[in-house]
Amino acid sequence: MSMQGDGLLVVVSGPSGAGKGTICRSLMDSKKDIVASVSSTTRMPREGEIDGNNYFFISREEFLNMIENDGFIEYAEVYGNFYGTPRKFVEENIKSGKDVLLEIDIQGALQVKEKYKEGVFVFILPPSMEELKSRIIKRGTEDQKEILRRFESAYKEINYVSRYNYFIINDRVDAATDKLRSIITAEKCRVDRFKMKLIGQ
Ligand code: 5GP
Repeated sequence: MSMQGDGLLVVVSGPSGAGKGTICRSLMDSKKDIVASVSSTTRMPREGEIDGNNYFFISREEFLNMIENDGFIEYAEVYGNFYGTPRKFVEENIKSGKDVLLEIDIQGALQVKEKYKEGVFVFILPPSMEELKSRIIKRGTEDQKEILRRFESAYKEINYVSRYNYFIINDRVDAATDKLRSIITAEKCRVDRFKMKLIGQ
C-alpha cells in the first residue's frame, strides 16, 4: 500500500488589497514542499516584475492560442486583461505528488472548482473595508480611476467567500500565513483523501 497520492491543489483568492499576494509569498518562503503556479497574462509588467517569475507576460494573440490548445485549466478577464493558469505545470506536479498553489481571481477559482472538486479553496479577507481601501491606495501601483474600480469590485467580491472552503482574515501576515499552513496540513490528514488514494491505486 502506497501512501503517496496526488498532491493537493490549493487555490487562494480574495479582493485586491486583501493581501493574498503577501500571504502566498510568505507561505512559499516558509514551506518548501509546495510549488506555485506562474500564470500567463496579457497585462504589461509592473516595475520590478520579471517574466517567468511573477507572470509569463504574453501577447493577446499568444493567449488566444493557448486557449485554443486547451493550455489553461482556467482563465479570466480581470480589470481589462487576460490571466490564465497553464495546465501542464499544475497537472504534472499534482500527479507527481507535489502540492500546487494557485493565486487567482474568483472567476478563475470557480472554474477550477468545477473541474477539481478535491481542490482546497481559501478566501483571504481584509480586516475591514477601510483597511482594504488604504491598502489599495498605499500600494500606489494604480492610478486614481483604477483604485476606485478595484475598491468597488472588492466590495462585490467579498460575497463570494461563501463559495470557498476556508476564509482567513488578514490582520497580521504571519498569523494569516500560519492559518494557511494549518489548513493545508489538516487537509492532507483528511480520511476521505486517504480513501481516495487507496481507491485510486
Ligand atoms: P495583478 O494584475 O494585480 O497581478 O492581478 C490581478 C488579479 O488577477 C488578481 O486578483 C490575481 O489574483 C488575478 N490572477 C492572477 N493570475 C491569475 C490567473 O492565472 N487566473 C485568474 N483567473 N486570475 C489570476
